[in-house]
Amino acid sequence: MKTRVAVNGYGTIGKRVADAVARQPDLELVGVTKTHPSYEARHAHDKGYALYLSGEGKASEFEAAGVPVAGRIEDLLTKVDVVVDAAPDKVGKENRKLYDAAGVRAIFQGGEKKDVAEASFNALGNYEACRGKRTLRVVSCNTTGLARAAAVLRSRWGVDNWEATLVRRAADPAESKKGPINGILPTFQLPSHHGPDVQTIFPDLSIQTTAVVVPTTLMHVHVNHVRLTRAPASVAEVLTTFRTTPRFHLFAPWEHVTGTPEAMEFARDRGLGLNDMMENVIWEEGVKLESRDLYFFQAIHQESIVVPENIDAIRAMFDLAPSGPASMAITDKALGLSAA
Ligand code: NAD
Repeated sequence: MKTRVAVNGYGTIGKRVADAVARQPDLELVGVTKTHPSYEARHAHDKGYALYLSGEGKASEFEAAGVPVAGRIEDLLTKVDVVVDAAPDKVGKENRKLYDAAGVRAIFQGGEKKDVAEASFNALGNYEACRGKRTLRVVSCNTTGLARAAAVLRSRWGVDNWEATLVRRAADPAESKKGPINGILPTFQLPSHHGPDVQTIFPDLSIQTTAVVVPTTLMHVHVNHVRLTRAPASVAEVLTTFRTTPRFHLFAPWEHVTGTPEAMEFARDRGLGLNDMMENVIWEEGVKLESRDLYFFQAIHQESIVVPENIDAIRAMFDLAPSGPASMAITDKALGLSAA
């Protein structure tokens, strides 16, 4: 029998997670929620997803729009084993009361504080520690990108210290009210909160992060300097290690991907998910090694990087796969991501 899943909040993350759940061989998407009728609600309806009301939503509004709903979130929760909460930042904490009342397991997103769930989750980082939990929090897009890279570097060479500057996108493409549209905004929390968030996955990792926000909607870019414990033999060894790990995509110099615009154009050409880039993007020519000092850039597609992690979090929770790598292989095959 398939594990029955609800997605509460059908926005940037929720609609992608819903599509990803629907593609998995061992999961069933029972329904999704919207607070108000919109083009996204119509699209969910057109895809055949059962639509339920959440928040302040009114059935009459949906009926008037010709997008019928099957009930409220409370009704949906009686039909599922787990709910993926993809509501806006901090709303998940409020929604948790509904999930607890229904006795349903829940997965939250990175906009919630870490104490919303029993553990924070990253598939490469701590799948085993998250097995059997009733609540998990999939860490944010930036933290997911850093945690994936940390999992690779720690296991292969060890990490003595990591300094990263995060160049953050101002808004998602559909967020017409957010900015800046000009200027670079330093984040005055020094170091930024991202380092401590990575430590929710790797408590003993020495990492300091700083951040600036820039006027772009495509991706984040991380500028990394890592002091490794043992020196890799060569840059080629580092590249091979990333290339042979799932959820990393390397661009070679001959591909002429000079920045995030071409990386997302590649994603549009490839057409996975909603033309998404769910892997960490690494530029081969942007990796430099000086003994134990590794420098590299990575780009993170904020709208989609956490999507496969939500699927693996469900498998860890219900012990549906023998290992993290096994779960990732099932997820990535269903999503069309190439095997590493
Ligand atoms: P979003 O605003 O695009 O979507 C949120 C959806 O939840 C909207 O459809 C909204 O109508 C709905 N909603 C509002 N109130 C609700 C309620 N009470 N119950 C259920 N649904 C409700 O937001 P998003 O970008 O998808 O972010 C969702 C979560 O994912 C946040 O925690 C965010 O921090 C995290 N996240 C976002 C990104 C990103 O770049 N967008 C990346 C990683 C993680």
